Amino acid sequence: MFELGKVFRKEFTRRDFLKYSSSLAVLMGLSELYVPRIAHALESVVSRKTPVIWLHGAECTGCTVSFANSHYPSVAELVLDTLSVKYHETLMAASGHVAEKALDDAIREFNGKYVMIVEGAIPTKDGGIYCKIGGKPFVDVVQKVAKGAAYHVALGTCASYGGIPASGPNPTGAKGLKDVIGGTVVNIPGCPAHPDWLVGTIVNILLFGKVPDLDSKGRPTIFYGKVIHENCPRRGGYEQGRFIRNFGSEFPDIEGCLGAKGCRGPVTSADCPHRLWNSGTNFCIAAGAPCAGCVEPEFPQTPLYEAVPEVAKTIRAQENDDKQAAIGTFGASLGGAVVGAAAAAGGMYLAKEKSRQQASKAEEV
Ligand code: SF4
Ligand code: SF4
Repeated sequence: MFELGKVFRKEFTRRDFLKYSSSLAVLMGLSELYVPRIAHALESVVSRKTPVIWLHGAECTGCTVSFANSHYPSVAELVLDTLSVKYHETLMAASGHVAEKALDDAIREFNGKYVMIVEGAIPTKDGGIYCKIGGKPFVDVVQKVAKGAAYHVALGTCASYGGIPASGPNPTGAKGLKDVIGGTVVNIPGCPAHPDWLVGTIVNILLFGKVPDLDSKGRPTIFYGKVIHENCPRRGGYEQGRFIRNFGSEFPDIEGCLGAKGCRGPVTSADCPHRLWNSGTNFCIAAGAPCAGCVEPEFPQTPLYEAVPEVAKTIRAQENDDKQAAIGTFGASLGGAVVGAAAAAGGMYLAKEKSRQQASKAEEV
Protein backbone atom coordinates (compact mmCIF):
# COMPACT_ATOMS: atom_id res chain seq x y z
CA MET A 1 0.00 0.00 0.00
CA PHE A 2 1.18 3.51 -0.62
CA GLU A 3 0.10 7.11 -0.31
CA LEU A 4 -0.18 8.42 -3.83
CA GLY A 5 0.37 11.96 -2.56
CA LYS A 6 3.93 11.00 -1.64
CA VAL A 7 4.62 10.42 -5.31
CA PHE A 8 4.38 14.21 -5.62
CA ARG A 9 6.69 15.77 -3.02
CA LYS A 10 4.90 18.80 -1.66
CA GLU A 11 4.19 20.52 1.64
CA PHE A 12 0.91 22.41 1.95
CA THR A 13 0.44 25.52 4.07
CA ARG A 14 -2.79 27.09 5.31
CA ARG A 15 -2.45 29.65 2.49
CA ASP A 16 -2.20 26.77 -0.02
CA PHE A 17 -5.36 25.24 1.40
CA LEU A 18 -7.28 28.46 0.95
CA LYS A 19 -5.84 29.02 -2.51
CA TYR A 20 -6.74 25.51 -3.63
CA SER A 21 -10.11 25.73 -1.95
CA SER A 22 -10.83 28.78 -4.11
CA SER A 23 -9.69 26.86 -7.20
CA LEU A 24 -11.93 23.98 -6.26
CA ALA A 25 -14.90 26.28 -5.72
CA VAL A 26 -14.37 27.68 -9.24
CA LEU A 27 -13.80 24.16 -10.57
CA MET A 28 -17.09 22.98 -9.16
CA GLY A 29 -19.04 26.08 -10.08
CA LEU A 30 -19.64 26.99 -6.40
CA SER A 31 -19.81 30.48 -4.96
CA GLU A 32 -16.91 31.96 -2.95
CA LEU A 33 -19.02 31.47 0.15
CA TYR A 34 -18.13 27.79 -0.08
CA VAL A 35 -14.36 28.40 0.18
CA PRO A 36 -14.09 28.16 4.02
CA ARG A 37 -16.32 25.08 3.97
CA ILE A 38 -14.20 23.43 1.28
CA ALA A 39 -10.99 24.29 3.17
CA HIS A 40 -12.42 22.83 6.39
CA ALA A 41 -13.60 19.69 4.65
CA LEU A 42 -10.27 19.19 2.91
CA GLU A 43 -8.33 19.62 6.13
CA SER A 44 -10.48 17.05 7.83
CA VAL A 45 -10.27 14.52 5.00
CA VAL A 46 -6.48 14.92 4.85
CA SER A 47 -6.26 13.47 8.33
CA ARG A 48 -8.52 10.52 7.64
CA LYS A 49 -7.43 9.79 4.04
CA THR A 50 -10.18 8.50 1.84
CA PRO A 51 -9.26 5.05 0.51
CA VAL A 52 -9.36 4.54 -3.25
CA ILE A 53 -9.06 1.38 -5.33
CA TRP A 54 -8.26 2.23 -8.95
CA LEU A 55 -8.60 -0.61 -11.48
CA HIS A 56 -7.40 -0.77 -15.10
CA GLY A 57 -9.11 -2.84 -17.80
CA ALA A 58 -9.10 -2.65 -21.60
CA GLU A 59 -7.54 0.79 -22.19
CA CYS A 60 -4.44 2.81 -23.05
CA THR A 61 -3.94 4.29 -19.50
CA GLY A 62 -4.37 7.76 -21.04
CA CYS A 63 -6.73 8.90 -18.28
CA THR A 64 -4.13 8.18 -15.58
CA VAL A 65 -1.52 10.02 -17.66
CA SER A 66 -3.91 12.97 -18.10
CA PHE A 67 -4.60 13.04 -14.35
CA ALA A 68 -0.96 12.72 -13.30
CA ASN A 69 0.09 15.44 -15.78
CA SER A 70 -2.37 18.01 -14.52
CA HIS A 71 -0.82 21.40 -14.04
CA TYR A 72 1.61 22.27 -11.25
CA PRO A 73 0.90 23.14 -8.53
CA SER A 74 -2.38 21.40 -9.07
CA VAL A 75 -5.62 20.73 -7.34
CA ALA A 76 -4.99 17.13 -8.37
CA GLU A 77 -1.94 17.05 -6.12
CA LEU A 78 -3.91 18.41 -3.21
CA VAL A 79 -6.60 15.82 -3.70
CA LEU A 80 -4.02 13.09 -4.12
CA ASP A 81 -2.65 14.13 -0.74
CA THR A 82 -6.12 13.68 0.72
CA LEU A 83 -6.54 10.23 -0.75
CA SER A 84 -4.95 6.97 0.08
CA VAL A 85 -4.77 5.00 -3.12
CA LYS A 86 -4.57 1.41 -1.96
CA TYR A 87 -4.28 -0.15 -5.37
CA HIS A 88 -3.35 1.37 -8.75
CA GLU A 89 -1.68 -0.98 -11.21
CA THR A 90 0.08 1.77 -13.16
CA LEU A 91 1.48 3.80 -10.26
CA MET A 92 2.02 1.25 -7.50
CA ALA A 93 5.50 -0.15 -6.94
CA ALA A 94 4.26 -3.60 -5.92
CA SER A 95 3.58 -6.31 -8.47
CA GLY A 96 2.55 -9.97 -8.63
CA HIS A 97 1.31 -11.63 -5.42
CA VAL A 98 2.21 -8.59 -3.29
CA ALA A 99 -0.06 -6.40 -5.42
CA GLU A 100 -2.86 -8.97 -5.30
CA LYS A 101 -2.56 -9.13 -1.50
CA ALA A 102 -2.70 -5.31 -1.33
CA LEU A 103 -5.99 -5.40 -3.20
CA ASP A 104 -7.52 -8.13 -1.03
CA ASP A 105 -6.35 -6.38 2.17
CA ALA A 106 -7.82 -3.03 1.02
CA ILE A 107 -11.20 -4.60 0.18
CA ARG A 108 -11.34 -6.29 3.60
CA GLU A 109 -10.02 -3.38 5.69
CA PHE A 110 -12.06 -0.60 4.06
CA ASN A 111 -15.19 -2.55 3.19
CA GLY A 112 -18.08 -0.16 2.49
CA LYS A 113 -15.85 2.95 2.71
CA TYR A 114 -13.63 3.13 -0.35
CA VAL A 115 -14.07 4.87 -3.70
CA MET A 116 -13.76 2.52 -6.67
CA ILE A 117 -12.35 4.06 -9.86
CA VAL A 118 -12.38 1.95 -13.01
CA GLU A 119 -10.34 3.03 -16.02
CA GLY A 120 -10.86 1.05 -19.23
CA ALA A 121 -13.64 -1.09 -20.65
CA ILE A 122 -14.58 -4.46 -19.23
CA PRO A 123 -14.43 -7.42 -21.66
CA THR A 124 -17.25 -9.84 -20.79
CA LYS A 125 -17.39 -12.34 -23.66
CA ASP A 126 -16.43 -16.00 -22.99
CA GLY A 127 -16.29 -15.45 -19.25
CA GLY A 128 -14.12 -12.34 -19.60
CA ILE A 129 -10.99 -14.33 -20.59
CA TYR A 130 -9.78 -11.57 -22.95
CA CYS A 131 -8.66 -9.34 -20.08
CA LYS A 132 -7.13 -10.89 -16.98
CA ILE A 133 -5.57 -9.32 -13.90
CA GLY A 134 -3.45 -11.63 -11.73
CA GLY A 135 -4.83 -14.61 -13.70
CA LYS A 136 -8.44 -13.66 -12.99
CA PRO A 137 -10.94 -12.28 -15.52
CA PHE A 138 -11.08 -8.49 -15.07
CA VAL A 139 -14.88 -8.63 -15.03
CA ASP A 140 -14.71 -10.83 -11.88
CA VAL A 141 -12.23 -8.44 -10.21
CA VAL A 142 -14.55 -5.51 -10.99
CA GLN A 143 -17.58 -7.26 -9.51
CA LYS A 144 -15.66 -8.22 -6.36
CA VAL A 145 -14.31 -4.70 -5.78
CA ALA A 146 -17.67 -3.09 -6.61
CA LYS A 147 -19.44 -5.01 -3.83
CA GLY A 148 -17.49 -3.28 -1.05
CA ALA A 149 -17.28 0.21 -2.60
CA ALA A 150 -19.12 3.24 -1.24
CA TYR A 151 -18.90 5.05 -4.61
CA HIS A 152 -18.36 3.76 -8.14
CA VAL A 153 -16.60 5.98 -10.67
CA ALA A 154 -15.99 5.14 -14.35
CA LEU A 155 -13.05 7.23 -15.58
CA GLY A 156 -12.78 7.84 -19.33
CA THR A 157 -15.07 6.92 -22.21
CA CYS A 158 -13.95 3.26 -22.26
CA ALA A 159 -14.96 2.68 -18.62
CA SER A 160 -18.10 4.80 -19.03
CA TYR A 161 -19.57 3.39 -22.25
CA GLY A 162 -17.13 0.84 -23.70
CA GLY A 163 -15.30 3.40 -25.90
CA ILE A 164 -12.67 2.17 -28.34
CA PRO A 165 -12.49 -1.46 -27.04
CA ALA A 166 -16.28 -1.78 -27.55
CA SER A 167 -16.36 -0.16 -31.01
CA GLY A 168 -17.42 -2.46 -33.84
CA PRO A 169 -17.14 -5.41 -34.08
CA ASN A 170 -16.28 -5.64 -30.35
CA PRO A 171 -15.01 -9.24 -30.37
CA THR A 172 -14.28 -9.22 -26.60
CA GLY A 173 -17.79 -8.10 -25.57
CA ALA A 174 -16.30 -5.00 -23.91
CA LYS A 175 -18.76 -2.95 -21.79
CA GLY A 176 -18.84 0.13 -19.60
CA LEU A 177 -18.91 -0.16 -15.79
CA LYS A 178 -22.63 0.53 -15.34
CA ASP A 179 -23.57 -2.16 -17.86
CA VAL A 180 -21.61 -4.64 -15.75
CA ILE A 181 -22.47 -3.73 -12.15
CA GLY A 182 -25.68 -1.65 -12.49
CA GLY A 183 -26.69 0.82 -9.75
CA THR A 184 -25.31 4.34 -9.46
CA VAL A 185 -22.10 4.88 -11.39
CA VAL A 186 -20.55 8.32 -11.92
CA ASN A 187 -19.37 8.43 -15.52
CA ILE A 188 -16.47 10.78 -16.24
CA PRO A 189 -16.04 10.21 -19.97
CA GLY A 190 -13.40 11.76 -22.21
CA CYS A 191 -10.60 10.37 -24.33
CA PRO A 192 -8.84 11.09 -22.06
CA ALA A 193 -10.95 12.55 -19.25
CA HIS A 194 -9.96 16.06 -18.14
CA PRO A 195 -8.14 15.88 -14.75
CA ASP A 196 -10.45 18.57 -13.31
CA TRP A 197 -13.50 16.41 -14.03
CA LEU A 198 -12.18 13.62 -11.80
CA VAL A 199 -10.79 15.96 -9.12
CA GLY A 200 -14.05 17.93 -8.96
CA THR A 201 -16.12 14.75 -8.72
CA ILE A 202 -13.97 13.35 -5.91
CA VAL A 203 -14.04 16.64 -4.01
CA ASN A 204 -17.81 16.75 -4.40
CA ILE A 205 -18.06 13.27 -2.89
CA LEU A 206 -15.68 14.19 -0.05
CA LEU A 207 -17.44 17.49 0.69
CA PHE A 208 -21.07 16.56 0.41
CA GLY A 209 -20.91 12.82 1.03
CA LYS A 210 -22.83 12.09 -2.17
CA VAL A 211 -22.31 11.90 -5.88
CA PRO A 212 -22.85 15.13 -7.84
CA ASP A 213 -26.00 15.62 -9.93
CA LEU A 214 -25.81 13.44 -13.02
CA ASP A 215 -27.29 13.83 -16.50
CA SER A 216 -29.11 11.08 -18.43
CA LYS A 217 -25.72 9.63 -19.48
CA GLY A 218 -24.51 9.39 -15.88
CA ARG A 219 -22.17 12.43 -16.14
CA PRO A 220 -21.81 15.20 -13.52
CA THR A 221 -23.81 18.15 -14.85
CA ILE A 222 -21.28 20.61 -13.37
CA PHE A 223 -18.80 19.53 -16.07
CA TYR A 224 -20.99 18.09 -18.83
CA GLY A 225 -24.04 20.33 -18.54
CA LYS A 226 -23.52 22.53 -21.61
CA VAL A 227 -23.34 21.81 -25.32
CA ILE A 228 -19.91 22.78 -26.72
CA HIS A 229 -21.48 24.58 -29.71
CA GLU A 230 -23.16 27.04 -27.27
CA ASN A 231 -19.81 28.32 -26.00
CA CYS A 232 -17.63 27.80 -29.05
CA PRO A 233 -15.22 30.60 -30.02
CA ARG A 234 -15.95 29.75 -33.70
CA ARG A 235 -19.69 30.17 -33.25
CA GLY A 236 -19.61 33.53 -35.06
CA GLY A 237 -18.25 31.75 -38.13
CA TYR A 238 -21.09 29.22 -37.95
CA GLU A 239 -23.73 31.94 -37.74
CA GLN A 240 -22.19 33.78 -40.70
CA GLY A 241 -21.88 30.61 -42.79
CA ARG A 242 -18.09 30.78 -42.85
CA PHE A 243 -17.46 27.03 -43.02
CA ILE A 244 -13.90 25.83 -43.35
CA ARG A 245 -13.71 23.43 -46.33
CA ASN A 246 -10.00 22.64 -46.17
CA PHE A 247 -7.66 22.55 -43.21
CA GLY A 248 -5.36 25.50 -43.61
CA SER A 249 -5.99 29.20 -43.68
CA GLU A 250 -9.22 29.89 -45.51
CA PHE A 251 -10.25 32.17 -42.68
CA PRO A 252 -7.94 34.11 -40.39
CA ASP A 253 -7.47 32.98 -36.81
CA ILE A 254 -10.61 31.29 -35.43
CA GLU A 255 -13.21 33.01 -37.56
CA GLY A 256 -14.19 29.92 -39.54
CA CYS A 257 -16.45 27.12 -38.28
CA LEU A 258 -15.23 23.50 -38.39
CA GLY A 259 -18.74 22.09 -38.90
CA ALA A 260 -18.09 21.07 -42.52
CA LYS A 261 -15.01 19.18 -41.34
CA GLY A 262 -17.07 17.00 -39.00
CA CYS A 263 -17.09 19.04 -35.77
CA ARG A 264 -19.39 17.31 -33.25
CA GLY A 265 -19.64 20.37 -30.98
CA PRO A 266 -23.38 20.75 -31.66
CA VAL A 267 -24.09 17.24 -30.29
CA THR A 268 -21.44 17.06 -27.54
CA SER A 269 -21.78 18.24 -23.95
CA ALA A 270 -18.66 19.26 -22.00
CA ASP A 271 -17.08 22.43 -20.65
CA CYS A 272 -13.91 22.25 -22.82
CA PRO A 273 -14.39 25.77 -24.33
CA HIS A 274 -13.96 27.49 -20.97
CA ARG A 275 -12.10 24.87 -18.90
CA LEU A 276 -9.47 24.35 -21.64
CA TRP A 277 -6.83 21.61 -21.66
CA ASN A 278 -3.10 21.37 -20.96
CA SER A 279 -3.18 23.61 -17.90
CA GLY A 280 -5.65 26.03 -19.43
CA THR A 281 -3.70 26.40 -22.70
CA ASN A 282 -6.22 25.54 -25.40
CA PHE A 283 -8.77 22.98 -26.58
CA CYS A 284 -9.43 20.99 -29.75
CA ILE A 285 -11.65 23.43 -31.68
CA ALA A 286 -9.66 26.56 -30.87
CA ALA A 287 -6.50 24.69 -31.91
CA GLY A 288 -8.05 23.96 -35.33
CA ALA A 289 -9.29 20.37 -34.84
CA PRO A 290 -12.99 19.54 -35.01
CA CYS A 291 -14.49 18.23 -31.76
CA ALA A 292 -14.59 14.43 -32.05
CA GLY A 293 -17.34 14.13 -29.42
CA CYS A 294 -15.02 12.10 -27.20
CA VAL A 295 -17.27 12.40 -24.13
CA GLU A 296 -20.35 10.91 -25.79
CA PRO A 297 -21.43 7.23 -25.68
CA GLU A 298 -21.25 6.98 -29.51
CA PHE A 299 -17.54 7.78 -29.56
CA PRO A 300 -15.57 6.59 -31.54
CA GLN A 301 -18.18 4.99 -33.79
CA THR A 302 -19.14 8.27 -35.41
CA PRO A 303 -17.49 9.41 -38.67
CA LEU A 304 -14.66 11.79 -37.83
CA TYR A 305 -14.73 14.23 -40.75
CA GLU A 306 -18.37 14.10 -41.80
CA ALA A 307 -20.66 16.99 -40.87
CA VAL A 308 -23.28 16.03 -38.24
CA PRO A 309 -26.84 16.08 -39.66
CA GLU A 310 -27.78 19.43 -38.05
CA VAL A 311 -24.70 21.17 -39.44
CA ALA A 312 -24.99 19.41 -42.83
CA LYS A 313 -28.53 20.84 -43.10
CA THR A 314 -27.28 24.37 -42.36
CA ILE A 315 -24.47 23.96 -44.89
CA ARG A 316 -26.90 22.65 -47.56
CA ALA A 317 -29.24 25.58 -46.92
CA GLN A 318 -26.31 27.96 -47.24
CA GLU A 319 -25.16 26.28 -50.47
CA ASN A 320 -28.70 26.62 -51.86
CA ASP A 321 -28.70 30.29 -50.92
CA ASP A 322 -25.31 30.69 -52.60
CA LYS A 323 -26.67 28.95 -55.72
CA GLN A 324 -29.73 31.17 -55.75
CA ALA A 325 -27.53 34.20 -55.30
CA ALA A 326 -25.26 33.00 -58.11
CA ILE A 327 -28.27 32.43 -60.39
CA GLY A 328 -29.47 35.90 -59.42
CA THR A 329 -26.10 37.43 -60.35
CA PHE A 330 -25.92 35.42 -63.57
CA GLY A 331 -29.50 36.40 -64.34
CA ALA A 332 -28.68 40.00 -63.65
CA SER A 333 -25.67 39.98 -65.94
CA LEU A 334 -27.57 37.99 -68.59
CA GLY A 335 -30.39 40.50 -68.32
CA GLY A 336 -27.87 43.30 -68.58
CA ALA A 337 -26.42 41.73 -71.69
CA VAL A 338 -29.89 41.32 -73.22
CA VAL A 339 -30.76 44.90 -72.38
CA GLY A 340 -27.40 45.98 -73.70
CA ALA A 341 -27.85 43.98 -76.87
CA ALA A 342 -31.36 45.30 -77.25
CA ALA A 343 -30.10 48.80 -76.70
CA ALA A 344 -27.36 48.28 -79.23
CA ALA A 345 -29.80 46.79 -81.69
CA GLY A 346 -32.16 49.65 -81.04
CA GLY A 347 -29.35 52.11 -81.52
CA MET A 348 -28.40 50.53 -84.79
CA TYR A 349 -32.03 50.58 -85.88
CA LEU A 350 -32.35 54.27 -85.01
CA ALA A 351 -29.07 55.08 -86.74
CA LYS A 352 -30.17 53.18 -89.83
CA GLU A 353 -33.57 54.82 -89.72
CA LYS A 354 -31.96 58.24 -89.37
CA SER A 355 -29.64 57.68 -92.32
CA ARG A 356 -32.56 56.31 -94.39
CA GLN A 357 -34.61 59.47 -93.64
CA GLN A 358 -31.61 61.70 -94.46
CA ALA A 359 -31.16 59.85 -97.81
CA SER A 360 -34.80 60.24 -98.74
CA LYS A 361 -34.68 63.98 -97.84
CA ALA A 362 -31.64 64.38 -100.12
CA GLU A 363 -33.49 62.64 -102.97
CA GLU A 364 -36.48 65.02 -102.50
CA VAL A 365 -34.16 68.06 -102.78
S1 SF4 B 1 -19.84 23.41 -35.42
FE1 SF4 B 1 -18.03 23.15 -34.07
S2 SF4 B 1 -16.57 24.77 -34.73
FE2 SF4 B 1 -18.59 25.30 -35.57
S3 SF4 B 1 -19.47 26.68 -34.02
FE3 SF4 B 1 -20.24 24.61 -33.55
S4 SF4 B 1 -18.81 23.79 -32.06
FE4 SF4 B 1 -17.81 25.56 -33.01
S1 SF4 C 1 -13.51 19.44 -27.59
FE1 SF4 C 1 -14.61 17.53 -28.03
S2 SF4 C 1 -13.05 16.03 -28.71
FE2 SF4 C 1 -12.00 17.77 -27.67
S3 SF4 C 1 -11.78 17.07 -25.54
FE3 SF4 C 1 -13.68 18.30 -25.64
S4 SF4 C 1 -15.30 16.78 -26.02
FE4 SF4 C 1 -13.36 15.75 -26.47
